[in-house]
Amino acid sequence: MRQRLLPTGICWCGCGEETARGSFFLTGHDKVAEAAVVLAEYGGVAEFLASHGYSPEGKNPRQVLEIWHEQRKAERHMAHKKRREQALSRPAHKPDLYEGGHYTSASL
Ligand SMILES: [Zn+2]
Repeated sequence: MRQRLLPTGICWCGCGEETARGSFFLTGHDKVAEAAVVLAEYGGVAEFLASHGYSPEGKNPRQVLEIWHEQRKAERHMAHKKRREQALSRPAHKPDLYEGGHYTSASL
C-alpha cells in the first residue's frame, strides 16, 4: 500500500503559505511543485517518463491513467456498497431503551 500522507496546514510547494484545512497545496501550487521536482530530479518530462518505463515503445501514460480511474471508480463503488450493507444490517432504532439505570439510544 502507498504511503498515507497528511496535510500539515502549510503549502507543500515551499511557498510558506497556509493552506485550507485538509489541503496540501494552495490552488495551482501542486503543479508548480510537480514541475519543479520533475525538472530538478529528471531534467524534463521525457526523462521523467523514461526513467519510470514510459515511452512510445514502453508503458503508455494515458492507458495507465484510464486504468487508474477505473480502479478508483471500483474502489469507491465497493466502499459505498459496504456502507449500505452496514446501514441495512444495523438493528432498528429503539427510542429510550432502558438499560441498568441508564437511558441509552440504540442509534449511538
Ligand atoms: Zn505553495
